[in-house]
Amino acid sequence: MHYQHRFSDGSPADLPVGKVVCVGRNYAEHAKELNNPVPTEPLLFIKPSTAITSLADPVELRPSRGPVHYETELALLVGSSLSGKIDEAEARQAIVGVGLALDLTLRKLQDQLKAKGHPWERAKAFDGACPLSLFVPIVQAPELNDLGLELRINGELRQQGNADQMITPILRLLQQIAEVFTLLPGDVVITGTPAGVGVLQAGDQLELSIPGLLEQAACVQG
Ligand code: ZN
Repeated sequence: MHYQHRFSDGSPADLPVGKVVCVGRNYAEHAKELNNPVPTEPLLFIKPSTAITSLADPVELRPSRGPVHYETELALLVGSSLSGKIDEAEARQAIVGVGLALDLTLRKLQDQLKAKGHPWERAKAFDGACPLSLFVPIVQAPELNDLGLELRINGELRQQGNADQMITPILRLLQQIAEVFTLLPGDVVITGTPAGVGVLQAGDQLELSIPGLLEQAACVQG
């Protein structure tokens, strides 16, 4: 299905669909639940544009891949290039929208890849591995460090967090990313998941939210 970035009023963003830069272990409680050490600098990885889908479309599980885990994350839509050493004001100006992402992960495969010292792409960068919500225009978003996020599955609260719990806060994260990976208009940055990750089942009804700003329903197909 054809994906295009859209704002929360449904209007298309005049931006291409680029890469997704992701950060692992940006909430201490989540690092602990997977028995990972809390990193001293952001653990970065990338999903290609082919991983992006819309949360308005069903999340497709493919049984041959093994269990798919959800990680709910705040997502930032980038509207202008960021490269090299930038200050916080430049980072702030480049964000045109805030939304939500599912960082879908084949956890069993990821554990096997980690044990072998192999890259994670097979577990995190496959087609469809990054469903995205609509994006709230940045002018409507309050202080970035006040953004909350929640995931309910079949009515039950599974994940809840707030940007103020991030080990590397949003603007600092963009600064660190831009020193390594040039961010281009249409790229997305996803900012790590709070505790409560788990497996998706066919038929699950998901409700993702940035409380007070964005509600996004999604369903899971087997
Ligand atoms: Zn993640």
